[in-house]
Amino acid sequence: MTHKKIPMEHDKKIALVAHDNHKRDLVEWAKFNRDLLAHHQVFATGTTGKILEEVLGFEIERLKSGPLGGDQQIGAKIVENEIDFLIFFWDPLEPQPHDPDVKALLRMAVVWNIPIACNRATADFMISSPLMDGEYDRLVPDYDGYTKRKVDLGEDSDKE
Ligand code: PGA
Repeated sequence: MTHKKIPMEHDKKIALVAHDNHKRDLVEWAKFNRDLLAHHQVFATGTTGKILEEVLGFEIERLKSGPLGGDQQIGAKIVENEIDFLIFFWDPLEPQPHDPDVKALLRMAVVWNIPIACNRATADFMISSPLMDGEYDRLVPDYDGYTKRKVDLGEDSDKE
């Protein structure tokens, strides 16, 4: 499959999401990395964003709460190239009312080759990468072959 290059600029669009049992973890991480985060554009699901805005003291673009559609909003932004990377501390030990949305969000991140950190160690490595503060061409598979595929509508479709 061929690829298309999607440029990521110096200031990146970062989405932060944490399930309730991992919000403290994300808050600690974000506080520690406040100055690194401050010059990027930060998005978050509703409750995560409210807490982070209070703690970090800079503006965060808040979407709906995760279970009310916030995860899907972030997924849609990934598709529209409005999010460059995702820090998503999802809870592996508790079922969530919006588990299908969680899975969909993770899937969209992979489909569009977005860096994702699902735990603090990965988030540490990501935020301290030299690539964070430079420009970077993200390679996204060229899905033209898929969108232009021939769809078999069965024998009858020719007769109309
Ligand atoms: P919240 O949503 O930030 O509104 O709690 C997080 C999530 O469950 O996706």
